[in-house]
Parts: sequence; C-alpha cells; structure tokens
Amino acid sequence: MLKKLFQSFRSPLRLAKHTRSTPEVLTSRQHNLRRGHKISRHAVSVVERLQHAGYQAYLVGGCVRDLLLDLEPKDFDVATSATPEQVRAEFRNARVIGRRFKLVHVHFGREIIEVATFRANHPQGEEEENSSLSARHESGRILRDNVYGSLEDDAQRRDFTINALYFDVTAERILDYARGVHDIRNRLIRLIGDPEQRFLEDPVRMLRAVRFAAKLDFDIEKHTAAPIVRLAPMLRDIPSARLFDEVLKLFLAGYAERTFELLLEYGLFAPLFPASAAALKHNPDYTRRLIQQALANTDQRIHQGKPVTPAFLFAALLWPALPGRVAQLQDRGMPPIPAMQEAAHDLIAEQCQRIAVPKRFTIPIREIWDMQERLPRRSGKRADLLLENPRFRAGYDFLLLRESAGDETDGLGDWWTDYQEASDSERRGMIRDLSASSSSDSTGAPRKRRRGGKRRRAGSGETSGQPSGE
Ligand code: ATP
Ligand code: MG
Repeated sequence: MLKKLFQSFRSPLRLAKHTRSTPEVLTSRQHNLRRGHKISRHAVSVVERLQHAGYQAYLVGGCVRDLLLDLEPKDFDVATSATPEQVRAEFRNARVIGRRFKLVHVHFGREIIEVATFRANHPQGEEEENSSLSARHESGRILRDNVYGSLEDDAQRRDFTINALYFDVTAERILDYARGVHDIRNRLIRLIGDPEQRFLEDPVRMLRAVRFAAKLDFDIEKHTAAPIVRLAPMLRDIPSARLFDEVLKLFLAGYAERTFELLLEYGLFAPLFPASAAALKHNPDYTRRLIQQALANTDQRIHQGKPVTPAFLFAALLWPALPGRVAQLQDRGMPPIPAMQEAAHDLIAEQCQRIAVPKRFTIPIREIWDMQERLPRRSGKRADLLLENPRFRAGYDFLLLRESAGDETDGLGDWWTDYQEASDSERRGMIRDLSASSSSDSTGAPRKRRRGGKRRRAGSGETSGQPSGE
C-alpha cells in the first residue's frame, strides 16, 4: 500500500521547491568558519588539491553544519565534481570503496577524508534499495545509485537543509541552496523537498531526523514531523544490517536518552524493537526506567570518554521482554532455567530479524543475562569463580541497573559491591554469613535443574573478548 502511495510522488519536480538553482552565498564576513579553526588540515588539503586539478570541491554535510554550530565535527566529508577514478588519480593514499555507491577514502594516518562525487537524486533506484528484495538487488542498485550530477543536484538529493551546506575552504565561502543557514539559526530539522516523498524514498531519514534533533537539540520542523508517525512502520522493510548501523548511531552518539524519547514520540521505537515496545505496554514503569537508566549511563560514559559496548545496550533494551516469555514457557510446563534459555534465544533470534546484531554482540548479551542467574549463587568457591569470569563486570553493572529500575534482589548488588572491596578474610566471613542466614545459596533462581548449566555454559564461556560494560 505504501508503495502505491510512493508511485504518485514520482515526479522529481516536486523536489525543486525547497532548493534554489543559485545558492545563497555567505562570504567570510557573514560566517565564522575559518580554515585554521577546528577544520582538519587534511580535509583542507584534499579540497585544495582537487581544486588545483581543476575540479570543484567543497567540504559538505555534517562538518559544515557542526562548525556553524561551533561543535567539533566528527569527520570531514568532501563533495567534488571529479569522478571516483579522477579523485583516486590525484592521491597516492586513496581507495575507492562503496557498496551503495562509490566513494573515495583518502587516508592520512588514522584520519580518513571521505570524498563523494556530486550525485543527482534518483528516487527510482532508492525505492528499490529499500524494498525487502534489496539484498538480492544489490549489484543493480550500485549502478543505479551512481548517477552523477551537478553541485545543485547534489544539494537537492541530500536529506536535511542543514546537511546541504557547502564550504569552499579556499574562498572561505558557504554555498546554501536550501536555506540551511536559516534553519541552523532557527534550530530546525527540515527535509529538503516534499517530506512524505523523501521519507518514502528512504525511511531511514526518519531515524536521522530524530538523531539530529537529539544531538543538536533542534526541533523537527512541523511539515517534516507530520508524516513520521504514519510512515514509521516502513522501517520494517529496511535491510536489517543497515538498521544495525543506524541503531548504533542512534544510541552511541552520547544523546541516547533524548533519542529514545523522540523515537517513542514518533512511533519509531516499535518497528525497531517490537518485543521491547510490547514490554513497554505491559510493564511500562519498569521497562521505561530500565531502558532510560541504561541509556543515561551510556551517554555519561561516552561524555567521559569511556568505552561502551553495544552488547550491554541491547541486553538492557531487550531484558524487559524476557520475563513474559519465560512465564509463557513455564506455563507450558518447562522448568525455569530451560525456559529462560529458550526465551533468551528466541528473543534474540527475533530481534536479529529486524536488526542484524552480529554474533560478537549476541553472545555477550546472553552472557550478561546468564550472569543475572548466577550472581545470586555465591556459596563455597562460587563467588570467587564468578569474580574471575570475564563477564563479571558487565553482569554486575547490569544487576545494578536492574536494581535501579526496581528489581527486588535482596541487596545483591550491595553485597557484590562489598565483596569486591573486601579482604580475603572478610570475604570468607561474608560467604559464611550467607550459609548461616539461609539454607539455600540462592535468592531467586531455583537450584534443581542445574543440569541446564550445560546449555547455559554454551553461551557463557570466555569466547567473545568484548570489553565489559565497564
Ligand atoms: P554525523 O555528524 O552523524 O556524521 P552527517 O550529517 O555527516 O552527520 P552522515 O551520515 O555522515 O551524516 O552523512 C553525510 C551527509 O550525507 C549528510 O550530511 C547528508 O547530506 C548526506 N546523507 C547521508 N545520509 C543520507 C540519506 N539517507 N539521504 C540523503 N542524504 C543523506
Ligand atoms: Mg558525517
């Protein structure tokens, strides 16, 4: 049905209304971008080199936007009239890359300057790219997507007005085809062209709108915002590998908490995380608290320059969906531990259909969850063995997260905090106290069925080598 809707919007003429054929030009007196200030000298040298060779070349996209906002650009992109082969011929350190379209990466040590040839908008190709058949159409797509164009075409095919600014580092002039500077001043995320058509061409733009709104603390302009809730289900047709990349950008940019709020507001969370969205309905307070807290911790770690692992994030996003599934299996007569194992396996498998989380992350997700079952069991040598487990830290952090969301664990988090800080003899005392205060060594998971451990261990070995949640 949505496809049909798209057909009626095919005319590229509709795009013209938000772009101009002659750009507004801001001279160096009208903006604060200076080549020596916050701009990578490698990016400057790439632009200069291409210009000397007779091509047009500009800094473009996120870096110009961020510089105007006085933010530190994440990376520098260059747009040029030179074809990828022509670009490569200018640099010794350049490689042509690209699946969706050809780009050139110019390497300077660890820094990569991405150089893209001006392209024209190509709705027909992009429609196919986002159909569920896209994986099989990949080679055809590359050709169709590589429609080169003029600078003006290139401005038109970009997503938001604030991302369609071109900076000529030599003349220190900004070219603005889509009133992007105006929108930066007014702090607005506005699609170029007809919003509905642009979202239909590429539904991932809905996620990008939310990502930039959260990161820049901008509003989504009302015509751009209007169709999102209705079109959000189209995300289901996006290839799962692309969604994995996008979701990492959404949640690992340091603004995950705000991003989550916006995803919910625009109906974009459910198509990405259907099981978690269902848990939000059934158990709203706990689910929201747990996810929010996990995202707030992630944001904080990123702002402190500490590492974060997608595994911890996904473990938190999906965890609230587990209990309901475990209960269902138990109702069918399955004992608790196998039920937990099967529910965890199924939940992750289902999620991977939507978002292709690679094995190197799904394995630690299982390990973090397994730890939740093992951390209560501390008697004898178990506590010390757990401490040595490479997944201990992530499991312990996750336990604290659950407690902060309201999970009742009988002080287990505090116990482990104390245990880590205790001396050997204090530790022995803590273990003795445990067996004295309870004949059982657990505060939750039942002890029978320990043979389930065989399956459990399959997912909890030292196999992944990922950093812990620390
Ligand atoms: P970030 O700070 O996250 O890197 P960015 O704006 O540079 O932000 P990129 O994903 O690096 O975002 O893309 C670079 C540029 O390519 C964008 O600024 C935009 O002009 C264009 N672009 C990227 N994705 C799309 C898309 N799906 N549709 C249209 N244009 C896009
Ligand atoms: Mg970028």
